[in-house]
Amino acid sequence: MNKKIIFALIIMGLLAVSAVSAQNSLFLSNNNDDSMYQVSLMQAFMHGEYDGVITVGDFKSHGDIGLGTFEGVNGEMIVLDGVVYQAAADGSINVMSDDEKIPFGTITNFDEDGKIDNITAKDFDDLTSQLDNEITKYGTNNMYIIKIKGDFSNITVRSVEKQEKPYKEFTDVAAVDQRVFNHTEQTGTIVAVYFPDYMNELNMHGWHLHFLSDDKTKGGHVLNLTDFNGSGQVDEIHEFNMILPTDDSFAKMNFTEDMTSKISSVE
Ligand SMILES: [Zn+2]
Repeated sequence: MNKKIIFALIIMGLLAVSAVSAQNSLFLSNNNDDSMYQVSLMQAFMHGEYDGVITVGDFKSHGDIGLGTFEGVNGEMIVLDGVVYQAAADGSINVMSDDEKIPFGTITNFDEDGKIDNITAKDFDDLTSQLDNEITKYGTNNMYIIKIKGDFSNITVRSVEKQEKPYKEFTDVAAVDQRVFNHTEQTGTIVAVYFPDYMNELNMHGWHLHFLSDDKTKGGHVLNLTDFNGSGQVDEIHEFNMILPTDDSFAKMNFTEDMTSKISSVE
């Protein structure tokens, strides 16, 4: 082989190696921080699958921001800055210990991909339509978590009484055991989770909002709000991991019913 050919082969080899490592680094930079981790699925939850699937401690190892509920639908869950809070049915806010269990929830490591400055929203629909406009820039087929901070002249949140077995379907729980709280002049954070339409029934498609006040005394699943002023940080998410309940009731559950209208009725 002449020297020129050997030289050319060495150069080609080096180019191939650097192309592979460039691909790897791109892949890795999108990996750990960019996965939505979900416990169980909305359809199972709607059918009364409220036994814990994993512990709070395990759940926290998959992220630092999210929402969900606790075993037996024992209140609403808000995860903020790595702390798992319970908005209980009596209106109190509690930090949950690592051995509490979770039947349904969503968590990710927050990683800021974009900002929304100076949001002014007159009510819930106004806020969520502005969030829709924002994510349309990035694409509505991704998943998102938006951390929204600011002042609310009014915020209405709900929590749910802990259920005992045999568990009722969630529409029946919401009808009788939902507790609604109306708070005025609050400063706090909303964790807004977005799932695209094609994930309908796997989770709540569109926006799902949970609130926690800055003084950590008020919170829950957001039903309404008025006169919000603040800002948002956007995390765009491209990866999804889901664990399923391991019990017999889940394994043999019938998922043929279209739950779309039932899910909308409890949002
Ligand atoms: Zn909720």
